[in-house]
Amino acid sequence: MSFLENFLPELIVESPGRINLIGEHTDYNFGYVLPTAIEKRVTFRFRKNNSLNQCHIYSLGYTIGFDLRLDRISKSEVEWENYILGVLNELLKRTDKLRGFDCIIESKLPIGSGLSSSAALECGLAFGLNKLFDLGLSKMDIIRLSQLAEHTFVGTQCGIMDQFASVMSQKGHVLLLDCKSLEHTQIPISIAPYKMIMLNTKVSHNLASSEYNTRKIECEEGVQIVQQKFPEVMSLRDATRSMLEQCGAEMSQTIYNRCSFIISENDRVLSAAKALQDNNLKLFGELLYQAHTGISELYEVSCPESDFLVDFSKEYDTVLGARQVGGGFGGCVLNIVHKDAVDQYIKEATKAYKDAFGISLEAFEVRPSSGTYISHEI
Ligand code: ADP
Ligand code: MG
Repeated sequence: MSFLENFLPELIVESPGRINLIGEHTDYNFGYVLPTAIEKRVTFRFRKNNSLNQCHIYSLGYTIGFDLRLDRISKSEVEWENYILGVLNELLKRTDKLRGFDCIIESKLPIGSGLSSSAALECGLAFGLNKLFDLGLSKMDIIRLSQLAEHTFVGTQCGIMDQFASVMSQKGHVLLLDCKSLEHTQIPISIAPYKMIMLNTKVSHNLASSEYNTRKIECEEGVQIVQQKFPEVMSLRDATRSMLEQCGAEMSQTIYNRCSFIISENDRVLSAAKALQDNNLKLFGELLYQAHTGISELYEVSCPESDFLVDFSKEYDTVLGARQVGGGFGGCVLNIVHKDAVDQYIKEATKAYKDAFGISLEAFEVRPSSGTYISHEI
């Protein structure tokens, strides 16, 4: 009999996706980001199965089985299994308290759409097992080991934002996070009479993972050049516009553009956080547009589909700003739309997008929501 039948969970964990209002690719440059969790999430149902080290995990239509011994855990050929195995590997390095368990994973979060289903998966699993076996890990431990799992088993050299946002967010707030010090401020957010509308391009160009790692290396190259004149610069977070201008002749146009984007983007995050606190939504919207221009022209991680939707929104007075969210090359575009215009805007954007690309986009509203939480426990 399948373990799915008569499955009575001891623990149910909800692990949300996130949007990042602004601050793209700044996290691995130790800069600033402004994310929040959203209501769309991954649900984990856990139970212990009384075995010493056997576990079964169901997701995406099938069950995988593992032996919970560190020397039995190795990378899989199947991408999604590596998120799971990576987390188990990190947990087993830290504790000997894990025992056999079963888990059913169900998700309402679009996958590969820039809403960080990956961090939701890693952090939800780590959070649930921490609770189920009383491992004594802090939220920060869960964040860090999930990030490490993605580095070592999946191979994406991600920053810390996605895991941090998935675990630490609070309902009704955005998180201003300094990715160097990890100091963070919860900023209450109200953008009435506007709403945050996501338009999912439904494209996920498979450049994303390799280009992500390439961008990281390009930024490190930029840092090395700046360091020759300014040894105190440890990451692009520490570099100023004036430093970059003084070192510009030493670097290729591509490296210059990458550095230029990150330096401006860090400033934009701080300006955007202040604009939200001052309720200056017009400025906030303009900063989103500026960010997208940089994403597209300087950092070169956009795509025709995302550019189309951002350009389309500029024709509407009822949209204050828009930009592609996430690592890039498709996924979702965030739009700040007046509440009275939402339905009409979605209708017209959907038609225009279908005419241009033959794809039916998906539209939904997002609201700042709470980070990983337990919804059921016996
Ligand atoms: P994003 O994090 O923006 O959604 P990524 O490419 O970083 O995009 O991560 C998507 C990957 O995460 C999927 O290809 C899959 O391997 C894994 N994943 C996400 N959600 C699930 C899920 N519910 N079950 C299994 N694997 C998942
Ligand atoms: Mg991801």
